[in-house]
Amino acid sequence: MADSQEFADLWERNLISTQEAGAYLDLMNDEQFLPNSFDPNIFDNVLTEPPQPSTSPPTPTLPVATDYPGEYGFRLGFPQSGTAKSVTCTYSTDLNKLFCQLAKTCPVQMLVDVPPPQASVIRATSIYKKSEHVADVVRRCPHHERTPDGDGLAPPAHLMRVEGNSRAIYKEDDVTSRHSVVVPYEAPQVGAEYTTVLYNFMCNSSCMGGMNRRPILTIITLETHDGKLLGRGSFEVRVCACPGRDRKTEESNFRKDQETKTLGKTPSANKRSLTKESTSSLSRPEGSKKAKLSTSSDEEIYTLQVRGKERFEMLKKINDSLELSDAMPPSEVDRYRQKILSKGKKEKEGQTPEPKRGKKLMVKDEKSDSD
Ligand SMILES: [Zn+2]
Repeated sequence: MADSQEFADLWERNLISTQEAGAYLDLMNDEQFLPNSFDPNIFDNVLTEPPQPSTSPPTPTLPVATDYPGEYGFRLGFPQSGTAKSVTCTYSTDLNKLFCQLAKTCPVQMLVDVPPPQASVIRATSIYKKSEHVADVVRRCPHHERTPDGDGLAPPAHLMRVEGNSRAIYKEDDVTSRHSVVVPYEAPQVGAEYTTVLYNFMCNSSCMGGMNRRPILTIITLETHDGKLLGRGSFEVRVCACPGRDRKTEESNFRKDQETKTLGKTPSANKRSLTKESTSSLSRPEGSKKAKLSTSSDEEIYTLQVRGKERFEMLKKINDSLELSDAMPPSEVDRYRQKILSKGKKEKEGQTPEPKRGKKLMVKDEKSDSD
């Protein structure tokens, strides 16, 4: 097998579609060849679209959750925490979602390009993500509200708290009754890029009579001291017992969804059949009708000159697997994918055979497990 760096190059030059890339990844998983030089995360940015922040109607009583850097370039950052079992707070970039345990420290980094005016403040509030719940105020469940905890600074009904900042001020809006917590904006220390505010979420997402399994968005705004909006960022939050596990599950579901969407679509026009002039086995045999209906442009045959037998064999294998996956109904594709996944899991659990040619076998989430 040729070094699949070449494949990475093809990918970068847009010569291979996302669908093909997915199939190729499967192929590599199956073949257990992932050379060191190939970054298996290369597709992460392509297979997953950034989550769209939900927009609330522009009424004064409904908070807006779209990101708005404003003239000071305000945005949020999160430390990298991985998905180990022991992690108490972890942020998923793919999902723009924070997973944390009840009352545990959640560091959120505040970044600006230009220092905002003196006495600016950072306000945090949470709203329900779904439009059918967005009118409800996010508050703690009756059980947790009655349980004495904390330093007495935060009103017991507030879901969000700021940790380790005596200047935090808790507010309830006169008109909307929404809760928020405000801290003074502090410029980063010399040499630092951001300041960090530590938040706590004081109920589980599943709390009965509180969030009650309704997803929430946390909105953080940079404001002048008299409440003029300068910038805004938001993210989804899930407060749960196993943040690492839940993040892993949701990210893999998200990727599966993306793949299904990609596979469900009519293959894109840049799909190419790879043939070598001296070999006839690669060109589509006349009369072999595909099970799937495609547009005429997809039936067009392209020829690719390939240098080197090894590389040709590799590309042929990719093409063969694409042809195969085209001929398969999507349900079958999913079934096989599950099979490959469970096979991969079993191997991860101990019976991993020695990788071929002494190269290191990369397991996709190995890194996040170890930290
Ligand atoms: Zn609760």
